[in-house]
Amino acid sequence: MSKRVGVGLDLGGTSIKYALATESGEILKHGYLPSDADADKTEIINNLYISAKEMIDYAGSIGQTVQAIGVGTPGNVNLETGWLMGSTPNFKSWSNINIKSELGSKVNLPVYADNDANLMALGEARFGAGKGYRNIICVTVGTGIGGGFIINGELYRGSAYAGAEFGHSLVEVDGIECRCGSNGCLEMYASATAMLRDFSQFAREINFTPTGNEINMAYLFELRDQGNEAAKKAIERGIYFLGRALAGSINIFNPEAIIIGGGVADAGEIFIDAIRQVAFKYAMEKPKENVRIVGAKLGNKAGFLGALSFALEQRDLEYQDN
Ligand SMILES: [Zn+2]
Repeated sequence: MSKRVGVGLDLGGTSIKYALATESGEILKHGYLPSDADADKTEIINNLYISAKEMIDYAGSIGQTVQAIGVGTPGNVNLETGWLMGSTPNFKSWSNINIKSELGSKVNLPVYADNDANLMALGEARFGAGKGYRNIICVTVGTGIGGGFIINGELYRGSAYAGAEFGHSLVEVDGIECRCGSNGCLEMYASATAMLRDFSQFAREINFTPTGNEINMAYLFELRDQGNEAAKKAIERGIYFLGRALAGSINIFNPEAIIIGGGVADAGEIFIDAIRQVAFKYAMEKPKENVRIVGAKLGNKAGFLGALSFALEQRDLEYQDN
């Protein structure tokens, strides 16, 4: 039985996660490499190359031939040209570069690049929590809030490859200033960063001094479980805003599934259920009828699996056209 294989690369702020996998999402080998976010873009391309080469060589050693390479990257990518547009806050020099041709010429294989949140959504849609559904909203809640929209089984990218910025949905008119230049965006209310900020304030109000080494979401959930009022209030506030924003999206898109991923979603079913309750309370009757709100299944594998699936699909399209 021969299965087509590809390589997926997921470029993140701290590391490149990558894998060799079959088109049905079976991982044959995976690894990671520090991404050197502060390095020059030629060095970042070189790191992507080193990661890809390791997988290509491994494929060769087991008698497989890599058909295409997919790259998930922060920022907006022009799907046709592979050009990375604009800048990305965590990567100093990572902009205005053609990932498709720069990496493609090094590996001598077809390379396709897209936004990382898009490819995470695609990974979950093809192999994870969204398998079997055609209309999906994928939301990742971590330091920020990202989004990916799958419509009729395909990623929706927008006219300038810049859509699905779910974290920048308005949840409070004239609210907290956002890094995007606007204010009142969801990310300022429901990201891990926002919940931790609110926690600090609520903790001061009840004269509670945190004793954890690191004040992170895991600690916040732990405190909440111990009955700490400040932690409880901060998490509930984040969940409320997220649920309200999702209710709005349900009314607009009437999707089959909403998938919640990212670091905060690792808190599990109790977190997902709380979001579900708010979203379903405020969404309209008919649009919410068939919607399932579920946790992501693939964790940090969603990015490279989505990248691989995207690359094999794009390669097929390119061959069809010629
Ligand atoms: Zn914003």
